[in-house]
Amino acid sequence: MQKTTDLLIIGGGIVGLATALACQRADASLKITVLEKEPSLATHQTGHNSGVLHSGVYYTPGSLKARMCRKGLAQMIEFAREHDIPHDICGKIITATEEAELPRLRQIMETGKQNGLSQLSLLDREDLKEVEPHCGGIAALHVPEAGIIDYRQVALKMAEEIERLQPRSRVLTGQEVRSITTEAGTHHVHTGTDKFQAAKLIVCGGLFADRLARGQGLNVPERIVGFRGDYYELTPQAQAKVRGLIYPVPDPAFPFLGVHFTKMIAGGVECGPNAVFTFKREGYGKTDFNLADTRDALGYAGTWKLFANHWRFGLKEYHRAFSKRQFLRTLQRLLPDLTAADIRPGRSGVRAVLLSPEGDTRSDFRILEGENSLHVLNAPSPAATASLAIGEAICLRAGFG
Ligand SMILES: Cc1cc2nc3c(=O)[nH]c(=O)nc-3n(C[C@H](O)[C@H](O)[C@H](O)COP(=O)(O)OP(=O)(O)OC[C@H]3O[C@@H](n4cnc5c(N)ncnc54)[C@H](O)[C@@H]3O)c2cc1C
Repeated sequence: MQKTTDLLIIGGGIVGLATALACQRADASLKITVLEKEPSLATHQTGHNSGVLHSGVYYTPGSLKARMCRKGLAQMIEFAREHDIPHDICGKIITATEEAELPRLRQIMETGKQNGLSQLSLLDREDLKEVEPHCGGIAALHVPEAGIIDYRQVALKMAEEIERLQPRSRVLTGQEVRSITTEAGTHHVHTGTDKFQAAKLIVCGGLFADRLARGQGLNVPERIVGFRGDYYELTPQAQAKVRGLIYPVPDPAFPFLGVHFTKMIAGGVECGPNAVFTFKREGYGKTDFNLADTRDALGYAGTWKLFANHWRFGLKEYHRAFSKRQFLRTLQRLLPDLTAADIRPGRSGVRAVLLSPEGDTRSDFRILEGENSLHVLNAPSPAATASLAIGEAICLRAGFG
């Protein structure tokens, strides 16, 4: 028997759940069903990220990322306060370690100001030591508006809220969507065990967003490839060397922010993540492999163009992924007195990177329209911070609220 619902949302990560919550808040009578393939919510990017509340300092002014990060940060803090979710606006520093990085640091400050950050300040070496005594930078940008939170906890609370606002709405786990067909304006979605139908469909499939969109017949020229990020963690004795968040000046040629130190809301300090091409989209181990994912990635011209353009970076990342010494060297640029005994291997996450056929990473958020359906094709960092704003924007585009 087909289960009928007003709105079907595929993906129980933070973007799918924030979207469901926005739609539920906009229309409390709406019966929403969220389908998540894993036995629990927030299993992939949402549950494997750095847990940083991004301030919006880096993003191109006027871009969706810039606008939604600023709005989403304020909404996320409000949501956390309302639901007693632990968070800490501990601030962060972006640290220049050589003269050549100073112009870029000033440029980030300008970008931040244009994005509405009002508390930014440039620190010289002495001021920097007051904020982060062990940091070895020559100057830094202090960003007091950045913070930390546990996004898995946020996602679980969002799910609870959806079902509280409308008891007929359901957030279902263990429901892997295998096919989507649309007939006479109605979507029919089959999972391994059940069939669902709805007039409206929103797909927030994270690492599988491209396949799900193609599965519904949409033309998607890009492809998603996975980039694993490994973390180390500081031993309890070394944790006093980091007070908050310490980031490097990012290389504008790459879509990642660089290996950084992150104080965690549950305690402890992590350092990472690196960025290594992975042969399995949801592969968290260094040697994980999946034939379909590998064929998909290596059979795509965009991947080879990316490799060709960034082969030096790629090789360095591979070396660093297997070499603690190399990882430590990168960390010592920010914290010179860190020793090998201070760090131990931690967890990993995999980022969904949307690649164009020319090998460019699509950096801004991207939502595709299908027949009575929307697909979130690209929701990279800071999409966890921005999730409530992204959810609201999708809700409006879907015609609710
Ligand atoms: C290492 C790392 C560090 C990051 N750090 C930060 C940070 O500090 N701050 C920040 O704001 N952002 C950060 N991000 C980015 C942020 O985590 C993501 O942008 C965000 O979690 C994306 O959420 P999502 O819901 O789109 O994806 P996901 O969390 O990946 O959720 C997608 C869901 O769809 C489900 N799904 C897929 N296919 C199907 C199917 N066929 N049927 C049913 N369900 C399906 C998946 O199981 C998954 O649960 C980081 C990401 C990574 C990987």
